[in-house]
Amino acid sequence: PVDRSPEIQEARLKLPILAEEQVVMEAVRENPCVVICGETGSGKTTQVPQFLYEAGYASGGGIIGITEPRRVAAVSMSHRVAKEMNLPTQVVSYQIRYEGNVTSDTKIKFMTDGVLLKEIQKDFLLQRYSVIIIDEAHERSVYTDILIGLLSRIVPLRNKKAKPLKLLIMSATLRVEDFTDNQKLFKTPPPVIKVDARQFPVTVHFNKRTPLEDYTGEAFHKTCKIHRMLPPGGILVFLTGQAEVHSLCRRLRNAFPFRKSSTVTEGEEEADTSEAMRKFKKAKQKKTMSLPRIDLDNYSALPVDEGDEDREAGIEDEDDGGSDIDLGDDPTDGETKADPSIPLYVLPLYSLLAPEQQAKVFRPPPPGTRLCVIATNVAETSLTIPGIKYVVDCGRVKKRFYDRVTGVSSFKVTWTSQASANQRAGRAGRTEPGHCYRLYSSAVFGDFSLFSEAEITRRPVEDLVLQMKDLNIEKVVNFPFPTPPSAEALAAAEQLLVSLGALEEPPRTGRVKAMQRARLTCPITPLGRAMASFPVAPRYAKMLALGKQQDCLPYVIAVVAAMTVREIFEDLDRPARSEDENSKLTQRRARLAQMRRLWAGQGASLLLGDLMVMLGAVGACEFAGCTPKFCEDNGLRYKAMVEIKRLRGQLTNAVNAVCPEVSVFVDPKMTPPTELQVVCLRQIVLAGLGDHLARRVQAEDILDPKWKNGYKTPLMDDPVFIHPNSALFKTLPDFVVYQEIMETTKMYMRGVSAVEAEWVP
Ligand code: ADP
Ligand code: MG
Repeated sequence: PVDRSPEIQEARLKLPILAEEQVVMEAVRENPCVVICGETGSGKTTQVPQFLYEAGYASGGGIIGITEPRRVAAVSMSHRVAKEMNLPTQVVSYQIRYEGNVTSDTKIKFMTDGVLLKEIQKDFLLQRYSVIIIDEAHERSVYTDILIGLLSRIVPLRNKKAKPLKLLIMSATLRVEDFTDNQKLFKTPPPVIKVDARQFPVTVHFNKRTPLEDYTGEAFHKTCKIHRMLPPGGILVFLTGQAEVHSLCRRLRNAFPFRKSSTVTEGEEEADTSEAMRKFKKAKQKKTMSLPRIDLDNYSALPVDEGDEDREAGIEDEDDGGSDIDLGDDPTDGETKADPSIPLYVLPLYSLLAPEQQAKVFRPPPPGTRLCVIATNVAETSLTIPGIKYVVDCGRVKKRFYDRVTGVSSFKVTWTSQASANQRAGRAGRTEPGHCYRLYSSAVFGDFSLFSEAEITRRPVEDLVLQMKDLNIEKVVNFPFPTPPSAEALAAAEQLLVSLGALEEPPRTGRVKAMQRARLTCPITPLGRAMASFPVAPRYAKMLALGKQQDCLPYVIAVVAAMTVREIFEDLDRPARSEDENSKLTQRRARLAQMRRLWAGQGASLLLGDLMVMLGAVGACEFAGCTPKFCEDNGLRYKAMVEIKRLRGQLTNAVNAVCPEVSVFVDPKMTPPTELQVVCLRQIVLAGLGDHLARRVQAEDILDPKWKNGYKTPLMDDPVFIHPNSALFKTLPDFVVYQEIMETTKMYMRGVSAVEAEWVP
């Protein structure tokens, strides 16, 4: 029996899903797999686990697992359900990549989809669970798709055993045919339960014109007008990225002052930065020797990156100008009139935001204020913000694009889909009739694609292929993907894995077709198994596998951790908004540039390039105790550094698990690598990034000036460049490897490290 507080009980009864409890539970009893569709806010995530709990699904020895594509949702939903059920977090718990509060008493476990995928590797039948709920399936995140494919096989296997496993798939949209009408996935189509939306009507207002550039400015003007002219009710604005969110927050706070925000990082303990720096820089060994070679077959024996969240790149927005727009046919409901003297309580919301800050949107705004949340698409379906009556939708979304041939990635802001735009509009009608202001015309909306494509069709899949091979799924092409990745993407993945030594070479038959077919069925090697056990992408896993030579492992772990966490440096290149901010930014830029030079080291270290800078930054930050102040002072992103710290711990454990004799540990006072070690590190990096090699085009070969200082890569016709912020910008080595190519103003290589010509295969 669950003992809920009267307020919670009352709030629950208002949720549409409550009316469906019987239907849901009956369907679950009678079917191995059930699909539930219901508008965001109808109560799926918070209530369905409780239904199952009350029906005894967590008392027969198995527990209830729920996967979320976003960490934010896994954490906040576990807290919410614990609170609703009046149970401690030892019982209703969460597990995300770096942390969790799961105990042996846990009965309901929220986790990211990547975490469950890892568990399947350890226990294919998921025997700890009696039910798995795949939440937010409409988002079509890669791991969600793979999990559904795997579970379609696991569920029948478990049904043959004494303890069957139930599968629930929950979606905020009705578009579930990819799961239900898919013979490869489920032979008998699972029943679909539609939860009545009980959504209040939302009036949609289109702009007459569509601003092509300055939608942030447009959003600003629209929000000001709503606040000045329309009755009380929260405003939710959808923008595309963190930088835009902050810029609009700032403008709105200036326009409708509330009180000075108190979010300044409080002065943590004084970290003696200069001391830490000096120590880290400390006398490097001055031995000279001919370059030693690491043994490429010497592995310390040795998964996949977890859901990428909707990480933001530091793409800057503009926000000046903006035309005046009419609020169109606005409500004159005769409700309470707007009072522009009321302060606007402006809050940002995006994935990388600290959890305490995120939690603020769920609390009622201070009395006498109007809530205004400026969000990225996290607010689209995974979180429901109470009290929203107005939605302002820029109609765009920021996505990462990969070029399938070259592997070049870029973040681009594109139009969203009609389905997403309708989800956004729906946020306005949860508590009363609402209004959605679309900052684009109805004609533009008509041109949006109907639905967003599944992520799996838009990104490289080598990590997934390795995971599947590790699960002994040899013919990945035959896997029951809800939407399969392209044949080329699968072939490219297998080829990369073969070249990394994770899969066996296909037999040479001399016939291209047969080779290609063989390539799609290469079995996993022992090295591949070891690599699959590391929670990083295969290229990085390979580096870890080679790391024990010359005692390089602690450095390899630190570098890999830093390379897999996005944006470790603060984005200081953004344009300033005031004189004051400008001079501060200039100072901080100078400081970061100075630190980068320091971290890059001297002599031999320099050639490890950007990776040496990362290693230096990680070492110095750890030495200083990884405080917010140290990060703030030195241009490092605190959240990234905390993630790196956790990942170092996790990778260290993973390496020890596979290869106990190395007994590596995280040393907070790690000394810099010796020259010998730097040379080894460069070769280890090359072993992982061998397909990311670029050769400098020599001055005498340049015919076209666009190739000045350019590098040639095997797959691209155009030059790529070393970024001015890179440690190797002045050196311009003949050969380099890079982590990725990012197209911004130019094709820039990121994470560049120099390679000796003689090492190049
Ligand atoms: P769904 O999963 O169908 O989108 P949820 O179960 O997430 O719906 O949300 C149901 C209701 O619970 C929403 O109306 C939301 O406002 C409320 N809710 C969810 N999380 C919180 C929270 N942390 N604090 C207060 N209310 C919450
Ligand atoms: Mg939900």
